[in-house]
Amino acid sequence: MPQPKEPGLLIVISGPSGVGKDTILRRLFQLAPELKYSVSYTTRPPRPGEVDGQSYTFVTEDEFKRLIETKEFLEWAQVYDQYYGTSRKRVEDALARGEDIILKIDVQGAAFVKKRKPDALFIFITPPSTDELLQRLTGRNTESPAALERRQREALVELGLAKDYEHVVCNRDVEESAREILAMIAAEHERRRQRA
Ligand code: 5GP
Repeated sequence: MPQPKEPGLLIVISGPSGVGKDTILRRLFQLAPELKYSVSYTTRPPRPGEVDGQSYTFVTEDEFKRLIETKEFLEWAQVYDQYYGTSRKRVEDALARGEDIILKIDVQGAAFVKKRKPDALFIFITPPSTDELLQRLTGRNTESPAALERRQREALVELGLAKDYEHVVCNRDVEESAREILAMIAAEHERRRQRA
């Protein structure tokens, strides 16, 4: 008889802007292509190279508000004056299929998910130092000076919230960080198997 499939694991990854979340995730998906990524909705305009439906689903503010009303979101938040939200259906469908799915969301969104899905795995990524974070944000050069200053200020506030996460990964090295996250996921699966 086929065994009933274990439900998938919901993995929430947060960390300040510029900490290297996207680079780590790219490596993580190379190492573990079976992991799924929850593509969020956003009202932010696409950056060069971002593909609609892959990086984000890009929508207008009106569309986003309609999605709030139709209860499409597991969580949503306003970050840097733009709206970002996680599709409840995309997440629930993946979990029901037994797939592990990763959400890359800000700390407000993560706090919401914690209330609705307390058994998710919450991981916060920190930089090796605050100086390095500020430098990385400046070097990225994708924002106007005012937006950059704001991202820097908010990144520092966000960094202070690492203490609310049970798992913290310090991004000294992309390869090491990706492998650390993989080990955390494997350990969580093991914990669940033992509890079952
Ligand atoms: P960016 O504009 O640099 O892609 O993302 C800005 C911030 O929004 C990042 O901290 C990112 O994790 C967060 N973010 C992206 N998608 C979502 C989402 O669906 N929900 C929430 N709450 N935050 C998100």
